[in-house]
Amino acid sequence: MTNAVAAETRDLIAALGADPALLAGGTRIVRSPITGDVIAEVAETTPAEAAERIAAAAAAFRVWRTVPAPRRGEFVRQLGEELRGAKEALGRLVSLEVGKALSEGLGEVQEMIDICDFAVGLSRQLYGLCMPSERGDHRLTEQWHPIGPVGVISAFNFPVAVWSWNAALAFVCGDSVVWKPSEKAPLTALAVHAIVERVIGNFGPDAPAGLAGLIIGGRDLGELLVDDKRLPVISATGSTRMGRTVGERVARRFGRSILELGGNNASIVTPSADLDLTLRAVAFGAMGTAGQRCTTMRRLFVHADVYDRLVPRLIEVYRTISIGDPRDPGTLVGPLIDGEAFAAMERALAAARAAGGRVHGGGRVDVNGEASFYARPALVEMGEQADCVREETFAPILYVLKYRTLDEAIAWQNDVPQGLSSSIFATDIREVEQFLSAAGSDCGIANVNMGTSGAEIGGAFGGEKETGGGRESGSDSWKAYMRRQTNAINYGRILPLAQGVKFDI
Ligand code: NAD
Repeated sequence: MTNAVAAETRDLIAALGADPALLAGGTRIVRSPITGDVIAEVAETTPAEAAERIAAAAAAFRVWRTVPAPRRGEFVRQLGEELRGAKEALGRLVSLEVGKALSEGLGEVQEMIDICDFAVGLSRQLYGLCMPSERGDHRLTEQWHPIGPVGVISAFNFPVAVWSWNAALAFVCGDSVVWKPSEKAPLTALAVHAIVERVIGNFGPDAPAGLAGLIIGGRDLGELLVDDKRLPVISATGSTRMGRTVGERVARRFGRSILELGGNNASIVTPSADLDLTLRAVAFGAMGTAGQRCTTMRRLFVHADVYDRLVPRLIEVYRTISIGDPRDPGTLVGPLIDGEAFAAMERALAAARAAGGRVHGGGRVDVNGEASFYARPALVEMGEQADCVREETFAPILYVLKYRTLDEAIAWQNDVPQGLSSSIFATDIREVEQFLSAAGSDCGIANVNMGTSGAEIGGAFGGEKETGGGRESGSDSWKAYMRRQTNAINYGRILPLAQGVKFDI
């Protein structure tokens, strides 16, 4: 491991306060998708160690749940401060480990800071309701209590933000957290763990050891979390295939799961669209992060009246977009995570051709040699939504279809198994409102005059159907990390029964 990327990784890990010794001697080999070089060999957590960390999280929960929520908010405020200081180094490490452009790596850390700020405010707003009681001298209320240690399983493409969306809320809600990051991105997790451990250490006895646990490994260790009854909530982000098993297994033990799974996001371009704005939004939405966002725009329905004014321009952008090393500030499209991702892109393009699609772009681009996988994004003009269009391929492929009525476009938009994000480009208020209505988009996210990706933390994030139905981040997503308790209180001297029932003894 004498290569330059490994050396930079080591320096960043040290700068973030994690032990560089963690990068050597283990069995899990980590490569940077930027060059394909090996940057670490990390040790996997053993099942016995994982069980110990879950036990430690359960013990920490018993202490943490009694700490006043605003004090828990102060802990998250300190976490946010620590992340502010770490932003540059952690953003660089995200870029090295998963190949994001540096501005996107920094943006991901900014998202962590933002959710901490949100959670601090939330720590004084974990409101229950007070309902009118039907009985005299009675009060009927509900309150929210901490639920227990939360298991977080995350995907490679947002290696640190997903943890923070869950952890910042879970911490203010009074829960401890055990995290199993993607096996493709353990280094950023080790760095974040060092940061949160530092905050715990500085916070004093209120923040117990075990409040934040980390488990490094693959699917088998994820399953260990999924099946552990001490974790009442499992928040799992990743493919629909993963979510299907996780959801079933957690349900079998009557646990609660928050599932954030695959998307197949579409945008509709209407005749009233601002086409210059649309062009920029589609380019970022479909090619940003090399098509490796759950919210990446994968389908585009363009009205016949504007098709010839938009699609040839888009094809030209696809032909000329800068593909390269994400450390280069001029790069807009970086590498795919690995060779498997490139092979999946090739398979999808072959299927699209076989289904009559006209493929513009695609193919491998040599940026840093044989061991890394850079691809030219592909725009595919399709005559219909063939099977390949209805699947999520985690790569920069945009399927474009021509439509004639908005009803038709909305029907196509909804006619896929996934239901994460969607958008419409329109300045006609009737078209916009139809798209947002109960008979419009069936997705968890429906945007207007912007792409499908780039959500803000203030809103609830997640999607319907095979995207899993979970919600994370803003709005009232916090409720998934707490248990609700209804309290009926009789402060009178008689015992009236509800619904007027008589039971005189
Ligand atoms: P993946 O499903 O391969 O892995 C995700 C995580 O699940 C990893 O930590 C993995 O070890 C774990 N895992 C896999 N099988 C498991 C099992 N049976 N039990 C327990 N854990 C298991 O996904 P990936 O390739 O890392 O990420 C890409 C996918 O994630 C895409 O489908 C993308 O759309 C989705 N994603 C969704 C969101 C969202 O918020 N909806 C966000 C990011 C990524």
